[in-house]
Amino acid sequence: MPKILIFEMKQEISTFNPLPSGYENFHVLEGDQLYRHRGLNTEFGGAFSVFDKRPDIEIIPTILSVAGSAGILSADGWKKVSTQVLASVKARIGEADAIYACLHGAMGAEGELDPEGYVLKEIRKMAGPDMPIVMSLDLHGICTDRMLKQVNGLTLYHTYPHVDFADTGIRAANLLLDIMEKGVKPVMARVVMPTLVRGDELITAIGCYGDLIRECQRIERDGTAVAAGIMIGNPFTDVPELCSQVIVSTNGDAKTAKREAIRLAEEFWPLRFRMQGKLIALDRAIAQAKTMKGPLIFTDAADATSSGATGDSNAIISALRDAGYKGKVLAQIVDPAAAAAAHKAGVGATIKVTLGGFYDKRRYKPMKVEATVKLLSDGNARLETMKTPLTAGPTAVLTFDNFTIVVFSKSISLFDRAMYYANGCNPPDFDLIVVKSPHTEHHMFEAWAEKNFNIDAPGATSADLKSLGHTICARPMYPMELDTTFTPKAVTYAR
Ligand SMILES: [Zn+2]
Repeated sequence: MPKILIFEMKQEISTFNPLPSGYENFHVLEGDQLYRHRGLNTEFGGAFSVFDKRPDIEIIPTILSVAGSAGILSADGWKKVSTQVLASVKARIGEADAIYACLHGAMGAEGELDPEGYVLKEIRKMAGPDMPIVMSLDLHGICTDRMLKQVNGLTLYHTYPHVDFADTGIRAANLLLDIMEKGVKPVMARVVMPTLVRGDELITAIGCYGDLIRECQRIERDGTAVAAGIMIGNPFTDVPELCSQVIVSTNGDAKTAKREAIRLAEEFWPLRFRMQGKLIALDRAIAQAKTMKGPLIFTDAADATSSGATGDSNAIISALRDAGYKGKVLAQIVDPAAAAAAHKAGVGATIKVTLGGFYDKRRYKPMKVEATVKLLSDGNARLETMKTPLTAGPTAVLTFDNFTIVVFSKSISLFDRAMYYANGCNPPDFDLIVVKSPHTEHHMFEAWAEKNFNIDAPGATSADLKSLGHTICARPMYPMELDTTFTPKAVTYAR
């Protein structure tokens, strides 16, 4: 009976977050605990739906080690994470006939700027040259030369905001089975484009990026390619191979893989101007908000915890207060000291605390408030789309004047409404809602809001990419160098 070993290792980091992350940021499942993903909209959920239909195949569940997005992983944290993942895989690899590696691609650690490449290389050494390995990646990942040299194939997310986690796992599982059983031999053609992109055109349902992703899906579905996708990297993960890139895999046909990858890259490149963040100055947005009925969304993509920011920006709420905005404001912030003070005082108490600037002291000045503790929680919830756990630690809802602020002890992904709902806040009940994510699924906020403002605020994940100060990625790179040129060149990988 063929046996497929599966493992997952994921984190997405922002180099511009001043607070390094550690082993304690990782949520670990081992062995049969991985089956908790059955039925979930996750890559493993999708892969299980394929493998479970095949009684003649056995799964070897090893480890899932996943951290929320954060600052760079400390050297010590990386040592622990990599040692644990590799030990788990090593313990069972002797039984395996093939491997599914579920990765993100935007990890970065002190002393190791290509963690996924390192782990894949070590696993390839253990597996030997002939064992099929297929990986899946987030389109925000940075797929490196070292990673591509270790694997037989890969599948990529095709949606942003991401909703196709399970679908990506299904495609990975099917590709792995095709390699194992049908003799499929993927040739992966990679075209690196020296540009970073951001902004609304990346929303695949409506943006120009989505138009090209649908071409990738078309060539996958009509059989031209066995897998295709366009990775845009997480522009805040400043590592040597940060870039945008097209990767097209065919069954043994290098010429077609190269031709399609180059065609898609040539179509992508001229769109880089459109694929930049379009931001509105905070004072202008507030001035307009004062005259509007609402509800309004203030998108604070610069403090997007899901892209690796600290989550402790008070830039928008303090400016709203200073400007005398009178509507009901709902916002979220990471501030462990304020959350602890609220838990100590209890529901109904009035406390004097500061909000924000707890970690990113260079960017944010703590904001003094005298607030009422409205609600306390353990900070546990589940993401709306994936139904995977969120653990924000002791959490409090504080109110003062016209503000309602959900205060977390730990940074968690805020790309949906889970943490508002879990803490008794219904966003449409407010006039202005701050969302710390560049984009959310349309129905969550925009569908019922009068206007979504993309606010120009300081932060470790600002869409004003030129403002961040990249020092490691290859240069020239658009938009840091506006005159960057591009000559498409496809490099192929095959095992
Ligand atoms: Zn992503």
